[in-house]
Amino acid sequence: MPRPLEALIHLDALQHNLARARQAAPDARVWAVVKANGYGHGVERVYEGLRGADGFALLDIAEAEKLRRLDWRGPILLIEGAFDARDLEWCSRLGLWHTVHCEQQIDWLALHKTEWPHHVFLKMNSGMNRLGFTPDAFRNAWVRLSSLPQVDEISLMTHFSDADGPLGISRQFEVFQRASHDLPGERSLCNSAATLRHATDPAVRGDWVRPGVMLYGASPDFPEHSARHWGLQPAMTLRSRLIGVQHLKAGDTVGYGSRFTADRDMRIGVVACGYADGYPRHAPDGTPVLVDGQRTRLIGRVSMDMITVDLSALPQAQPASEVTLWGQGPDLQGQPTELPIDEVAHHCGTIGYELMCALSPRVHVDVR
Ligand code: PLP
Repeated sequence: MPRPLEALIHLDALQHNLARARQAAPDARVWAVVKANGYGHGVERVYEGLRGADGFALLDIAEAEKLRRLDWRGPILLIEGAFDARDLEWCSRLGLWHTVHCEQQIDWLALHKTEWPHHVFLKMNSGMNRLGFTPDAFRNAWVRLSSLPQVDEISLMTHFSDADGPLGISRQFEVFQRASHDLPGERSLCNSAATLRHATDPAVRGDWVRPGVMLYGASPDFPEHSARHWGLQPAMTLRSRLIGVQHLKAGDTVGYGSRFTADRDMRIGVVACGYADGYPRHAPDGTPVLVDGQRTRLIGRVSMDMITVDLSALPQAQPASEVTLWGQGPDLQGQPTELPIDEVAHHCGTIGYELMCALSPRVHVDVR
């Protein structure tokens, strides 16, 4: 028997979440952001659920190649653009659209020999201060690009730093508008949080939205809003089984470093899942886990291949009982229960994005 740990990828949830993005941004086209191997789900796997998108946005030419091999003929956008001049050759060969965020990338384009002119997304740094031209340099970059025979279409984009929080998008949106309002070209501004919270305004919505995490069924602004609040369904379930049960006496400790001490006699379960599978090693006591669909808590330090959980309130639990680390799982009556990845991440001081991206290659993955 293989080790009883597996990730399930739910295609119907991916489809549902894509429809939710379309509903939040009516009339806009949707780039499904599938960077980082489809946020850890596997780019080929999520393609099945997201092929109804208008295009795929990613940053790795190897991932773009995978999509072309799957016969995706539609748009693919490299959201960080070319990393060096040779990447432009690949853009021509694979028909990739690419972001242009610095002068160097324009220099490479000016020297690039191609029969097929490129569609580029000119990126403005409207306040995030990662990639992009400053508002002052934006127009010159546009003029330079539009003079190149290698470029036949220029769209405009920026990226919000606080769409998920109280600062919001208004300052960056204003900067973007002021510096670009009279330039032609399609616009793309919104990530998941901006799509869900601000895309009712057609100017913010633009022509293309770029949702990532919402497509995978996690909330971009947890704990303020849950994925359920946004009408999203988890696209990944990480599930395992109990592989052992121990009976502790009051005063006994559990695991490396004896982090947890029993304050009474209790039963605990051992689950086949550890940090080598992508479960966060720093998960504290109390991190939620479902056993047979019922909530319990992690106790003791996470080790490479195992975690330990409190079975005090679960007398029926025994080796082979089903465990859900995050996602969807049935309870003993077969009713659906759910443990949001955001909640697990929150306990661990991180975000759902990080947990899903960290799923280890050794975890068996099944697509449903
Ligand atoms: N657009 C760009 C440029 C990004 O870098 C990202 C992700 O970091 C996204 C869109 C998608 O963001 P999210 O997953 O928050 O929707």
